[in-house]
Amino acid sequence: MVADSQPGHIDQIKQTNAGVVYRLIDRHGPVSRIDLSRLAQLAPASITKIVREMLEAHLVQETEIQDPGSRGRPAVGLMVETEAWHYLSVRINRGEISLGLHDLSSQLIVEDTVSLPLDDPNPLLSRVISQVDQFFIRHQHRLERLTAIAITLPGIIDTVKGIVHRMPFYDVCDMPLGEELENHTGVPVFIQHDISAWTMAEGLFGASRGARDVIQVVIDHNVGAGVITDGRLLHAGSSSLVEIGHTQVDPYGKRCYCGNHGCLETIASIESILELAQQRMNQSMGSMLHGQPLTVESLCDAALQGDLLAKDIILGVGINVGRILAIMVNLFNPQVILIGSPLNRAAEILHPAITSCIRQQSLPAYSQHMVVESTQYNHRGTMAGAALVKDAMYNGSLLIRLLQG
Ligand SMILES: [Zn+2]
Repeated sequence: MVADSQPGHIDQIKQTNAGVVYRLIDRHGPVSRIDLSRLAQLAPASITKIVREMLEAHLVQETEIQDPGSRGRPAVGLMVETEAWHYLSVRINRGEISLGLHDLSSQLIVEDTVSLPLDDPNPLLSRVISQVDQFFIRHQHRLERLTAIAITLPGIIDTVKGIVHRMPFYDVCDMPLGEELENHTGVPVFIQHDISAWTMAEGLFGASRGARDVIQVVIDHNVGAGVITDGRLLHAGSSSLVEIGHTQVDPYGKRCYCGNHGCLETIASIESILELAQQRMNQSMGSMLHGQPLTVESLCDAALQGDLLAKDIILGVGINVGRILAIMVNLFNPQVILIGSPLNRAAEILHPAITSCIRQQSLPAYSQHMVVESTQYNHRGTMAGAALVKDAMYNGSLLIRLLQG
């Protein structure tokens, strides 16, 4: 959303420079104006001007920095000011919605997860807006100045126009979520596919922080991937996604919500895995999976205790996902592959299965040095949306709106 008017060339430069300076203060603060000028490669006069605007808007503050060993007057350093600025991060998932109030340092103030039934006859759009309203009513005593709303969800999404074309689990057709919520609340709304946003969050705050080339694969209710290449999210700012979940792995497989058949998502999603386990239990009467509710947790625990059926199901997921990842490794040559999945509970079974599949099926020179690890965050919670807001501060698009008041 957000880009309401085409900024002129000068405005665009101003926005970019302000974003760069804000990012440097956030990453390096407290930092002096002289160091900022060097790090940003901007003239001292430009730094002074940008910083003055940020000070006036209370987005940065001054503090003293004393060089250890120096006897002179302490220098003036700049730090970001984050506590008085809040934003709402929303995650829509299968059957539930999480709403988290964060401050601009991404610190979580309060988070609620409430049920969002799949079969409710009311339109999803009005239900989401109503949940946002109720959240603000519940927590109005804690709310500081609201800057933005970030929403992450699965589906086919136009992130620029804020339109959700289709979703798994919910009956949605071209839902104008961004525009409606922006009109309703008066603050900018950022919408992103949950896997892309989660990949950004791991890169900014989590397990892939600092890595240049990363593939993050998510195996949950939905299946997909995010790619960071040369430090940037692939397809950032566009509606395109790394749609590995909709790569056909079984031409005779189940119909998928995207319109095709036998997509990876129809085989490797948590629902499909549990369905397969349920079917195979009938031929494996000795399996530990009998006599308890079948869940991801019970499946992982049985596998960890050596149950052959449970182990075989998880190894099967590793092989299906690993095969697609092997192709991606040849395309992107990542240092790190992150797995985001509740199946990480049995990471000692799943990860080696994925690793060995990749090593057998991709270029040895690429796969030798790559490591397979768990994501830091899980698929719940609202840190994925936090990455959208941080990104909008760093690229200047949200920052400039806050500076203009
Ligand atoms: Zn599909």
